Amino acid sequence: MRPGTGKVYLVGAGPGDPSLITLRGFTRLQRADVVFYDYLVNPVVLSHAGLLDGPGAPTELVCLGRHGQGRILSPSEINEQMIAAARSGKTVVRLKGGDPAIFGRTAEEIAALEEAEIPYEVVPGVTAALAASAYAGIPLTDRDWASSVAFVTGQECRDKDGLSLDFANLAHFPGTLVVYMGVTTAPHWSEELIRHGKPADTPVAIVRRCSLTDQQIVKTSLGELPHTLAPGKLRPPAIVIVGQVVRAQEKNNWLRPGLLFGRTILVTRPSSQSPQTVMPLAELGATTLRQPAIEISSPKDWKQVDAAIDRLATFDWLVFSSANGVRYFLERILATGRDLRQLGHVRLAAIGPATADALADYHLHVDLLPEEYRAEALAAKLADEAVGKRLLLLRASRGREVLAERLTAAGAAVEQVVVYQSRDVAKPHAEVAAALAEGRIDWVTVTSSAIARSLVHLFGDDLRHAKLAAISPLTADVLAKAGYPPAVIAQQYTLDGLLQSILDAEADGASA
Ligand code: SAH
Repeated sequence: MRPGTGKVYLVGAGPGDPSLITLRGFTRLQRADVVFYDYLVNPVVLSHAGLLDGPGAPTELVCLGRHGQGRILSPSEINEQMIAAARSGKTVVRLKGGDPAIFGRTAEEIAALEEAEIPYEVVPGVTAALAASAYAGIPLTDRDWASSVAFVTGQECRDKDGLSLDFANLAHFPGTLVVYMGVTTAPHWSEELIRHGKPADTPVAIVRRCSLTDQQIVKTSLGELPHTLAPGKLRPPAIVIVGQVVRAQEKNNWLRPGLLFGRTILVTRPSSQSPQTVMPLAELGATTLRQPAIEISSPKDWKQVDAAIDRLATFDWLVFSSANGVRYFLERILATGRDLRQLGHVRLAAIGPATADALADYHLHVDLLPEEYRAEALAAKLADEAVGKRLLLLRASRGREVLAERLTAAGAAVEQVVVYQSRDVAKPHAEVAAALAEGRIDWVTVTSSAIARSLVHLFGDDLRHAKLAAISPLTADVLAKAGYPPAVIAQQYTLDGLLQSILDAEADGASA
């Protein structure tokens, strides 16, 4: 191996639901410089890539082709590109659906990497058979019905001259058969199994797009299968489970549609915060996509912040207008070898519950929280207390001046210090831009005015293809002024409030 060579990770992305990737796969993806992915990989999984991007080069995403659209790379071209990227020192992720080694050509890729002396690692994934089993409630083995299971490809019977399946043995296999890639070839393989002695009334379950919010489960029998899968009836990808285990489990379809079932929602917060938004949406059955509209980072230098920390004892109030402000400021106190005793007697004001929660994470209790979660309300509530007092505002590199202005006008001595930088993201992910342009996104969450402005810049008129959900009237106003009025505005200016406004709109839509 040459010095400076990168590494290739062959990672299983799981069957579809983005939370079914392993933790190891997820962290590999976060650190990747370049990701080679199959067209069918869920774009949400891709949006995990490069979450740890610094100000340097963003993660390169290489789609290995979409049937009928553009060039599809041959297996040897894929290997050449992976090897070239690793040789140039890059961390490469080859992302595959399900498990990389189940019908995934992993053996050839490993052979090429071995030959080129490129270090590699294989990260397993939840293969489609296991996901279909779990999501359809059909255990593939069963004490009474099946003590073995076979994974079978439905594609080998296609090519007359190529390898063909040993149907005589498969027909008498003492257990469950799970067929991958078997939709279009079903008439052929089901007839062959019957011809070799498998009973035509053997129960069969077809699980299409398992673990995704539009999953379908159809039960039939081996004899009926060609009918059930007649052209145009059920499109791939689907797993076909053949065996008595299907009969044993008649009513075990536990995947209940959530309130946001079938909806795709774009989350636009900075990547460090987007998991908090994605989780509740996913729990409600929504498909989520991520496109951070802004990213945040440490200030250019810490001089001002450190000087303020040195003089903390001279302030009466610390005023936090965001959870990020809390984290960056308190982490700086800790990182400089001090601890929270540095805060001494100083009192704490927060703009809203998320900011108060961030303080609570450091075991700090807020002394003042306005009823309405906006700068004007915070200024009004602090005004009486503030007369003649010294206030320190911990803020972003950009934002509104209203807090400082109003508190100064109220007679306070106000100092401001930038504890984190906020910058617009320059370019959207191609996958996300295409999804929005093609009308595949139902809702876009807009959780601050800065995000609103950046989204307008990133997507322009494509924003009209989705409904916008604004976290506050102020954010709504920015959108409306740009020509994209939101469909809903949260009543409570919090994430929960925003989610509730989407749920209310969906309920209205359903009853209308
Ligand atoms: N390596 C993958 C399989 C690749 S072969 C894995 O381990 O799952 C592609 C086949 O996988 C499809 O034709 C289909 O049979 C199956 N498949 C993949 N994702 C699926 C899904 N979400 N639902 C049903 N079948 C799926």
